[in-house]
Amino acid sequence: MSFGVKNRVAIVTGGSSGIGLETVKLLLKEGAKVAWCGRSEERLRESLDQLSTLYPHENMLIQSADVLDKSSIDAFIGKVASHFEGIDMLINNAGQGKVADFDNTQDEEWLSEVTLKYFGVLNPIKAARPYLQKSSIASIVNVNSLLALKPERHMVATSAARAGLLNLSKTLSQEFAQEGIRVNSILIGMVESGQWRRRFENRSDQSKGWDEWIRGIAKERGIPLGRLGYAHEAAQALVFLASPLSSYTTGSVVDVSGGFSREI
Ligand code: NDP
Repeated sequence: MSFGVKNRVAIVTGGSSGIGLETVKLLLKEGAKVAWCGRSEERLRESLDQLSTLYPHENMLIQSADVLDKSSIDAFIGKVASHFEGIDMLINNAGQGKVADFDNTQDEEWLSEVTLKYFGVLNPIKAARPYLQKSSIASIVNVNSLLALKPERHMVATSAARAGLLNLSKTLSQEFAQEGIRVNSILIGMVESGQWRRRFENRSDQSKGWDEWIRGIAKERGIPLGRLGYAHEAAQALVFLASPLSSYTTGSVVDVSGGFSREI
């Protein structure tokens, strides 16, 4: 079965690493034209070099842009639309989480978490919306976290901000339905990626290697599937929701948490 995205145009924010990079790869594999951004020019260039050996160069576009910098996102999205003559899918993936409990979260950190989770999505959506309105398969997918439904004390600000983003995604799905733009979300539990690599570098018990450390986390947290997810598994859910394969689905949420969510 095909995703139906051949020659369609997709944007992936934060496409230079982890889940975003796997999403870019899968879209290219399916024949889509893909543009991706990130803040680091170097990481973007590395991802382009890696993918250029596998997929047609003319189907790819990179540009350094910070999702929180409205003018750089406007410029990026405008360039994608003129280069590929339109935009069909927007995948809002860029971001990171903040590990801190209530007593260790300063006011500025609350503000920066809420700003990232809201404007990291709002800026690209506002810029892409006029182009999406002209697409026959328009969709937006927001990468969210299981924290939105299942808050964790050690990530207090991220949990609260993620809940707001889930709420916002639902409202937008209703608002944009009349324009033919679908809006969906995935809720990630724990996926092996750059975020976890960074936490691994700063782990308290330096005697453990990556495999032992990551298996220990899965066991300690009681993930029923017994491991963390892989970035390509989140990417598969993202591309499904972005693509016409999910054409009658909007305002929905796909849980990619290995069964970690106990909610029904
Ligand atoms: P990675 O750190 O591997 O990748 C993050 C990507 O986003 C990079 O390309 C990074 O590039 C880019 N990025 C970060 N901030 C910005 C910004 N302000 N503007 C533009 N690009 C940005 O992370 P993951 O793949 O793990 O995470 C992807 C998404 O999934 C994030 O939103 C994360 O919060 C979410 N998530 C991940 C979980 C996990 O377990 N991995 C759990 C729950 C949610 P650069 O740094 O160069 O800008």
